[in-house]
Amino acid sequence: MDQSPSPTPFPAAEIAAARLLIDLDALAANWRTIASLAPGIETAGVVKADAYGIGLEPAVRALHAAGCQTFFCATIDEGIRLRQTLPAVQVMVLNGLLPGSEATFTDHGLIPVLNDLADIARWRAWAMAHNQRLPSAVQLDTGMTRLGLKGPDTERLAAEPERLDGLDLRLWLTHPACADVPTHPLNRTQLDRFRTRLAALPVAPASFCNSPAVHLGPEWHFDLIRPGVALYGANPTPAATVRMREVVHLKAKILQIHRVDTPRTVGYGATHPVDGPARIATVGVGYGDGYPRSLSGRAEGRIGDHVVPLVGRVSMDLTTFDVSAVPEALARQGSEISLIGGGVDIDRLAHAGGTIAYELLTGLGRRYNRTYSGDGARDGAGPTVSDQPGAEGTA
Ligand SMILES: *Cc1c(COP(=O)(O)O)cnc(C)c1O
Repeated sequence: MDQSPSPTPFPAAEIAAARLLIDLDALAANWRTIASLAPGIETAGVVKADAYGIGLEPAVRALHAAGCQTFFCATIDEGIRLRQTLPAVQVMVLNGLLPGSEATFTDHGLIPVLNDLADIARWRAWAMAHNQRLPSAVQLDTGMTRLGLKGPDTERLAAEPERLDGLDLRLWLTHPACADVPTHPLNRTQLDRFRTRLAALPVAPASFCNSPAVHLGPEWHFDLIRPGVALYGANPTPAATVRMREVVHLKAKILQIHRVDTPRTVGYGATHPVDGPARIATVGVGYGDGYPRSLSGRAEGRIGDHVVPLVGRVSMDLTTFDVSAVPEALARQGSEISLIGGGVDIDRLAHAGGTIAYELLTGLGRRYNRTYSGDGARDGAGPTVSDQPGAEGTA
């Protein structure tokens, strides 16, 4: 069990009202699981938005120790942090090459994902001016209408491949819009478009898949897959038989127990009437910590095997659960309720709140005590393997 220097050193685990336990061994295991679904193909790691909220540096150390050599982030500053943590890996920046950012890319050895012909021209001019063959990736838009070269621009590039002269083209990529719905016709349409366009373009490795697309099958895998959310324990394809391990476990201590003996209501708006007898537990986590207000009255927590319904509205710093059915010894001041993980499935929880696991993860609050366990938990060289897999932080 590793007790890492937390990015938020206070509150200490012992006195924190809420703890976020992050299992880096599970992260690494999920990466290996996804990689095993696409044998012989490079498996990258998508670590944008602070590695989906779990913390960029420990996440990339753990993924790298598992064998990941190519990382995707969204922004330049994420790329710089990544580079400072892992000097030798390939770092691709999805949000592309804004004018004026060329020097930052080369200074930090980052690879821009070029999203239109003007990006390509600017990057090439920079390469020529500095007499370097600069590594590059190019995104093709095959149906997402978000980033990437449109069809006509792709045709132009195919007709004038000298536009890429002087660039070291590492990857063609496209992004699927509907991969989480395997039967959606756009999956096949995007695949066909990607194939047709690649056939006309200079040869380089290609990549189609985010996490859910990996489950569409080998036709979609090309040379490199780019899983993100599945690494962090979500299962974006509900029908997939391969399940990801839980990476994030959010536990909150009970601050106070309210015994209700006469009828009253709980929380803002008096939305939850209680006739009594009942016991209501208040924990110190709310929407200010990224536990969405839309979960009000719609979610459950866990105390061990006991399911405790969330009652009333989630407020900024506090949430209330009905613990009437839990033995008193297990639900008193200081007892912990699992809000995410520990039996509370993150995809189901997100669904209950009208959102997706991606948003829950990337919204994880900054007030928690964060405890990392497993490989990558420590700064510096060499992996430090947990001798108690799945063990939680001290407290
Ligand atoms: C976010 C992202 C991914 C990863 O998607 P997941 O659904 O989280 O696996 C892959 N590729 C691109 C271009 C992305 O923006």
